[in-house]
Amino acid sequence: MSENWRVFDYMRKYNYENLYICNDISTGLRAVIAIHDTTLGPAAGGCRMWTYSNEWEAIEDALRLARGMTYKYAAAGVNLGGGKAVIIGDPKKDKTEAILRALGRFIDRLGGIYYTGEDVGTTLKDMEAIYAETRFVITLPEYLGGAGPIAPATAIGVILGMKVAAKKFFGSENLGGLKIGVQGLGAVGSEVVKLLSSEDVELFVTDIDKDKVDYILKNYDAKYVDPEEIYSIEMDIFCPCALGGILNSSTIPKLKCKIVAGSANNQLKEEKDGYEIEKKGILYVPDYIINAGGTIYDTYRLFNPPHNHEKAMGKVYKVKDNVEMVLEIAEKEKIPTFLAADRLAERRIEEAAKAKNIRKRGALE
Ligand code: NAD
Repeated sequence: MSENWRVFDYMRKYNYENLYICNDISTGLRAVIAIHDTTLGPAAGGCRMWTYSNEWEAIEDALRLARGMTYKYAAAGVNLGGGKAVIIGDPKKDKTEAILRALGRFIDRLGGIYYTGEDVGTTLKDMEAIYAETRFVITLPEYLGGAGPIAPATAIGVILGMKVAAKKFFGSENLGGLKIGVQGLGAVGSEVVKLLSSEDVELFVTDIDKDKVDYILKNYDAKYVDPEEIYSIEMDIFCPCALGGILNSSTIPKLKCKIVAGSANNQLKEEKDGYEIEKKGILYVPDYIINAGGTIYDTYRLFNPPHNHEKAMGKVYKVKDNVEMVLEIAEKEKIPTFLAADRLAERRIEEAAKAKNIRKRGALE
């Protein structure tokens, strides 16, 4: 990304609303807040802290991630728009309470058009510092009125999505007897394993962290697979719960699974990989549809305060409908599932825009 990059052209191309550059000399904060689309509601999206090599890279990242959030919320059926904040700096060396609080003051100044949360380089603890300056924070610990950890809700959504995909591919949503490989045994992956252990499946697990693998093997009936081998084993469902970009030109040819259904964000390295996986006859459940359970759970309290665990969990079952709709759109329109996910999001935004126009016309008449 260079200084020749034309920010207004980019914003016009993808229909962005605002871009805020935040500079606070006393704390050293340099941050960018991007607001993509607020048709459905105020923009929301996490705060990333990263060592960008130049400020254009930070601006582009904020814009790109904000647009992703618009699609994620819209497809999930959550009435929020897409936004993102990025702080330029090394989270290990440069992060201070003062910097986070300075960002909190900038967010507060926006008056509720943008809600922040955790992302790469920031933690739930950091959200407490931001929350000291603004109430426009989504991910918060329970003792501050938030929903607390969201991975269990994300994992429930993943299992629901797997069942919809199994019904489509095998004719039954019963996972019993299927071979399922879980990549990554962190917050979400370990919960997925826990939930699958009561479904009588044959489980294969992998992680680069030996302690996490040991914990799972000690507590569940699962077989360990080397991290590099997970792609090529014969399995019915591959469940990526580790890194992004794992569906790419070197892994897709190895895959022997029938379905890919997991929580990892940005699983397709490039758009062409979405077509490649389709060509192989593998049913790919789009990442941002199947991994929205945590988001749905987390944001429920914004519309129905205060946080209520049971009610928020009840909403997570929406993931099932969303996955069903995406698979239906893909079949009807003969398009790959990753494009069908975008269609679902775009339709929901278009519907909301129409509804707003109707109200506006009504007010003028
Ligand atoms: P986490 O950091 O708790 O767990 C990730 C795990 O993946 C770690 O145990 C790590 O050791 C392992 N890992 C890293 N590289 C690996 C490799 N090459 N092979 C095998 N394992 C590897 O993260 P998480 O919160 O469980 O999230 C997992 C994925 O799901 C991420 O992509 C995240 O963005 C996405 N996601 C998470 C949530 C949530 O609720 N936490 C919600 C939506 C999406």
